[in-house]
Parts: sequence; structure tokens; C-alpha cells
Amino acid sequence: MDFAFTKSQEALRARIREVITAVVDDEAITATHESGTNHWPPLVRALGQAGILEEARPGAGQDPVALSILSSESQKLGAPFDSIGMALAIAGVLEAVGSDFLRERVGAGLLAGEQTVCFGLTEPDGGSDLAALKTKATFDGERWVINGAKMWTTLAHIADWVFLLVRTDSDRGRYGGFTVFVVPMDTPGITVDPIETMSTERANATFYDDVAVGPEWIVGDLHEGWQVLSVMLGFERGMGDTTALVPLARRVVEWATEIGRIGDPLIRERLAQIAIDAQVCDLLTQRTVWTAATGQPPGTEGSIAKVFATERYQHHARWAQATAGAEGLLGYGAEGAAAGGWIDHDVRHSVPQTLQGGTSEINRNNIAERRLGLPRAR
Ligand SMILES: Cc1cc2nc3c(=O)[nH]c(=O)nc-3n(C[C@H](O)[C@H](O)[C@H](O)COP(=O)(O)OP(=O)(O)OC[C@H]3O[C@@H](n4cnc5c(N)ncnc54)[C@H](O)[C@@H]3O)c2cc1C
Repeated sequence: MDFAFTKSQEALRARIREVITAVVDDEAITATHESGTNHWPPLVRALGQAGILEEARPGAGQDPVALSILSSESQKLGAPFDSIGMALAIAGVLEAVGSDFLRERVGAGLLAGEQTVCFGLTEPDGGSDLAALKTKATFDGERWVINGAKMWTTLAHIADWVFLLVRTDSDRGRYGGFTVFVVPMDTPGITVDPIETMSTERANATFYDDVAVGPEWIVGDLHEGWQVLSVMLGFERGMGDTTALVPLARRVVEWATEIGRIGDPLIRERLAQIAIDAQVCDLLTQRTVWTAATGQPPGTEGSIAKVFATERYQHHARWAQATAGAEGLLGYGAEGAAAGGWIDHDVRHSVPQTLQGGTSEINRNNIAERRLGLPRAR
């Protein structure tokens, strides 16, 4: 296992940092924080124009490490990444299994950094068990008519497209009979309601009432949505939120310096621990990327990296808040707030991190059953 970047990967890393630092200034950070939407259009556009989105698109013939470099550099620099990660995963899926029509209508705009896509997977009755989803599409002889509801559809209020998993045939067993559609968000019958989360990030409930689309909007084969989904999940390998400890450490240093406690041995010891954990996160993520790059099927590496990174983030953020005392409880922009309120933000933000993209419990089940060979939990 060789973790060193090649010369061209190092060059890509430098270009990414250059674009991000040129476009993401304090105004961008404040605007994305206040909007609750982890998307900064000028950044996405600049990455598109620089050809970086195309380079980082996952798929055959591409450098599998490029996407993880973009993801981790963005997160380390505190740049909004959600919309970029989602766009690249879908552009990769369309390249791999989409039609020419979808690549031209949807993929091209995503890779140019001009358009955004959201994921319509989770439903109100439960997200961990995706195979139980109820949103369905029926064919009226000409078009597919979609009815149902999705929950936690991040970015739905700004997205151009939704990558929507629905049932198209209920007689094909538990994992058969699903189809993925890319649906234009301005199609009549789609309603988007905001959900304000404790992390201050906006999620959405989305409703689909007689939303009619032609068969040209199907991704991959009809009734084979599960395969399309597994292509997408494969592309997400190594792209998770595993670098949050880096900006957290920066904020703790900022706060401790400001109040003259940077020499405090307790704080220094904790900072060292955060740095060690950040390094472990990096290695675990690189292992996930390496298994993907060598063509191995998804194993438990992604689950291990996600559980460790998100739970250590939550643990250290809570320590920082407790140590900062009352100022640690003050939110973003409040006078006197520790690190300008970013410590409070980190504590809030670290909670959904252990849920979205697969909860800690589900990931632990995966590790227990597939890695440790323990019996199925249920
Ligand atoms: C901020 C945020 C943004 C999100 N963005 C998106 C998005 O853009 N698109 C999208 O489709 N989804 C999105 N999600 C949904 C996310 O993927 C789900 O929340 C997650 O998969 C869990 O599903 P659930 O919330 O329905 O919980 P449930 O599946 O109902 O689980 C409830 C609890 O039971 C536990 N549990 C469930 N099954 C088991 C089991 N078999 N063994 C042990 N414990 C179990 C879970 O760990 C959890 O603690 C987002 C979620 C959040 C919080």
C-alpha cells in the first residue's frame, strides 16, 4: 500500500487549493453558513472552468484518487463541498450507466459547475432500510407518473435535478423493481418544504404528486435501480466527511490563542490528540480510496473510516465546547462566542454527521457482520 501522491496528483492538489483560496473568502463562508446551504456557486463554477470537476469525476479511465483529493482539500479549507460531491457522484453514474441524452442534458451542466443535483433516496418511514421505500412510478402508456414523499433531501430547494429512487414493480422481490430517474426539479407536482436542523443546515421534505416524466429520464435499466445505486455508492468511497478534525483543531487554536490559554498543558495535550486522530482519519480514508483504486469490491473500509471520523469529531467538538465554558455555547456571530461561534457550530454539525450517509449503528452492523464475522443483529 503506497499512500504517496504522484506528481500529477500533487499538482492537482495545488491547483485545487489555489482555486478554493481564490474564491472562498470570509464573505463566502458567512453566506453559506447563514443560508444553511453548503453550496457556493462561484466556487463550483470556478472548479468547473478550471477542468477540476471533470478530472475528479469518478469512473473508468479516471484517476480514482482525484475525487478524494478534491473532497479532503475542500473540507480541510472549510470550503462548501456538499453540492460538489453530489454533482460528481451523479456525473460519474451518468457516464457509467446513463444515456447520451442524460449525459448531455444533466452531466454536462454538473461538470461545468453550472447546475446542481440532490439525492431523493430516504423516505419519511425510514432511511436505513432503503429497500422498504414506498415512492412509486406507474407507466401511463406514454410517461412515468411518480407519487410519494422523500425526507432529508439536502439541496432540493436550489437543485436543478433530483436523482430519485422509486419502485416501478412490486413483484420483483425485495431488491428488484426499483428504478432511478433524474427528474427536473421544475416538473409540475414537486413540492419542497424546509426542515431546519440543529446543525443549522437546511434539509428538505420533498413531495411528488403525479409528477410525470418520459422514459428518457430513466438512469440505467428499468427496474434495475439497485444496480445504479450501487454504482453511485461505489463512487462515494473515500469521499466522506472524514477531515472535520482539521478545521476543528484550527478553531481550538484560534480560541485558545485569543484568550491566552494556548500554553495550557491540558489544551496542548488535547490538540495533540486531535492531530493524531486527524492523521488516523486520513489513513483510514486513504485505505478506502486505495481499495477502490485497486478495483476491489466495497468492503468495510468506508464504514470504519466513517464511524471513527464522525464519532471522534463529535467527541472532540464537545470537549472544546465544555472547555470553552459559557462562550463555547454562544453561536455563530454572537458577541464573545468562542472562535466566533465555530465551536458551537462544530458541536451541532457533528451530530448529523453520524447519521447521514449511513448511521453509526448501521455501519457498526456492517463491520460486525462482514469484518468480524459476528452473527446478524436482526
Ligand atoms: C442532515 C441530513 C442530511 C441528509 N441528506 C440526505 C439527502 O440529501 N438525501 C437522502 O436521500 N437522504 C439524506 N439524509 C438521510 C440519511 O441518509 C438518513 O437519515 C439515514 O440513512 C438514516 O435514516 P433515518 O433517518 O430514516 O433513520 P432510521 O433508518 O429510521 O433509523 C433510526 C435509528 O434506528 C437505527 N437503526 C435503524 N436500522 C437499524 C438496524 N438494522 N440495526 C441497528 N440500528 C438500526 C439507526 O441507526 C437510527 O439510530 C440526510 C440525513 C440528515 C440527518
